[in-house]
Amino acid sequence: MLLRYLAVLPICLWAAWAHAQAAVGTVTPLMPRLAMDQYVEFIEDPAGERTFEQLLQDDRLPWQPGGSGAFNRGYSPSTWWLKLRLRSQLPESSKRLLEIAYAVLDYVDVAIVHADGRIEQFQMGDKLPFRMRPVKHRYFIVPLTLQPGEQVTLYLRLRSSSAIQAPMTLWEESEFFDFNNTRIMINGLYFGTMLVIALYNLLIYFGLGERVYLYYVLTVACMALFLASLGGYAFQYLWPSLTQWNDQAIIVFLAGVVVFGLLFTRRFLSLAQYSLALNRLALVCVILGGGMMAGAFLFSYKLNIITLIPLASVACLLGLVMGGYTWKKGEPMAKYYCIAWVAMLSGGILLALSKFNLMPANTFTEHATQIGSSLEVLLLSFALAERINVERRLRYEAQSVALETQMRANEILEQRVQERTEALEKVNLRLQELSDTDQLTGLRNRRFLDGLLEREWARSRRYGHHLAVLLIDVDHFKRVNDVHGHLSGDRCLQVLAGCIQGALRQMSDHAARYGGEEFFVVLPETDLPGAIVVAERIRAKVEATPIVDHDLILKITVSIGVAHLAPDAAIEGVETLVQLADTALYQSKASGRNRVTPALPPADLSATDVRPAGHLQRVK
Ligand code: GH3
Ligand code: MG
Ligand code: MG
Repeated sequence: MLLRYLAVLPICLWAAWAHAQAAVGTVTPLMPRLAMDQYVEFIEDPAGERTFEQLLQDDRLPWQPGGSGAFNRGYSPSTWWLKLRLRSQLPESSKRLLEIAYAVLDYVDVAIVHADGRIEQFQMGDKLPFRMRPVKHRYFIVPLTLQPGEQVTLYLRLRSSSAIQAPMTLWEESEFFDFNNTRIMINGLYFGTMLVIALYNLLIYFGLGERVYLYYVLTVACMALFLASLGGYAFQYLWPSLTQWNDQAIIVFLAGVVVFGLLFTRRFLSLAQYSLALNRLALVCVILGGGMMAGAFLFSYKLNIITLIPLASVACLLGLVMGGYTWKKGEPMAKYYCIAWVAMLSGGILLALSKFNLMPANTFTEHATQIGSSLEVLLLSFALAERINVERRLRYEAQSVALETQMRANEILEQRVQERTEALEKVNLRLQELSDTDQLTGLRNRRFLDGLLEREWARSRRYGHHLAVLLIDVDHFKRVNDVHGHLSGDRCLQVLAGCIQGALRQMSDHAARYGGEEFFVVLPETDLPGAIVVAERIRAKVEATPIVDHDLILKITVSIGVAHLAPDAAIEGVETLVQLADTALYQSKASGRNRVTPALPPADLSATDVRPAGHLQRVK
């Protein structure tokens, strides 16, 4: 039994609820602003066939109370009839405005039935040109004159391809315009901010040519135009007679926010560097969004909006994921992006909370989306500026690294060149030495001697110094060769060279192989007695030095001719000096060999020249 009652109880409760009538709204002077949602009753008219007349005559219609929140039936193809009853407790006749605060309803037909039977009718909706509205406002405003004590009934007929929503407020006229001024100011501020930011970034785009700025400008523009379309501002100010475009605009601009927002995000976060999968997913959403922008002109508003809303939600989520992911991966721009996104979403959440009565509905919560989105846009604008800084810093760093690398490369190159040059100089020096050196004896050769003689001659003449030369020839050398062979001869020449070199004490003295078995010694700044001393020292040393060649011990002697240039001597040219030494050598030979003979002064030369010319032999 009890069970039967329990089963019936919900049905009874439903019937009671269904037939309960909403209260009558009481208009008092103390309430210049009255939320009407709780007084709404409604009937669904799926076929849209009912008329006002039927509604007025039939008092058995199943009117249902609208509930506490704003009337909202979502997307519905039906026609919806709303009824509102108002009783005036005003002392005198007074004007009130009924605001239906949802700008995108297609058709809003209103009939006001006064107590005296008068019926006023208005036709509004964004499918009708803006100028037809009784009050020129972005929302639908119904003017209402109430007599003292009068009860009026309002009937609203709503039909729309957008959501069927009708948040209603009854305003005292001046209160409405006061409040409206604040709203216009806030929205003006919002749209102004968006415009300035869009223009500013457009100029930066023209300046830098970076596409991220263009995407940003388009995102901001689409966002502002979407909100302007949804809020009725665009219809009021931008295209008051383009009723068809007014629907399409919402789709185009919302899809635009998705498309350009994602294009912007991909570039701004350098997404391709961090995640190819997310980058591709974003690209897919961009393509879908682009398709929907075109679809706005091809399909019905309802079809468009119910496909676009899931896409926009996915894009929203994707935005957060992309921001979070790249932040985790160390993208410097990601934190700005995430903060901006959170600001934007908080705006949306605040608005939603206020709509569900979880937060007080006030000017702040009503404009939370605008505040959130302008914060987002400002933050991103700042981040874009910061991005220039970051990029500039990176560029400077790269430049200085490149510069340093180049400097280091130059240093290395210079060092290498220096090393090579030094090596080359050494080789050259060695080559020079080789080309100036006699291979057999290691003494200077004739080539070097010629140069040296010229230099010493010139120096002695200029400074008035003495200059002495010795010409040395081995005695009977042919015999050494003939008896012991050429190799032994060579050995003799080597030992002889050592003897000559060892007998020289001054750094400036030079010994050279003049040719065959003849040697030459140059003694700068040396007078004749000094030169004779040196010559004698050589002669004696050679005589005293046994030459060991394998098991042979050889002895050789040398004859030496000494020539001397005194500072005041009238000798012309170095050849004459050499000639003098040669003649003196000849005399040494002639007078028995193994001796030193100084040359006679030049004046006596011709007189004593007893030797045939050409004693000197040149080394080949
Ligand atoms: P003199 O005392 O008159 O000088 O008699 P000499 O035999 O030394 O005669 P001369 O000076 O004309 O001799 C030159 C000889 O020296 C010719 C050649 O056989 C020898 N000779 C020249 N150059 C070389 C050399 O490089 N090596 C060897 N082994 N012998 C040389
Ligand atoms: Mg000789
Ligand atoms: Mg000889």
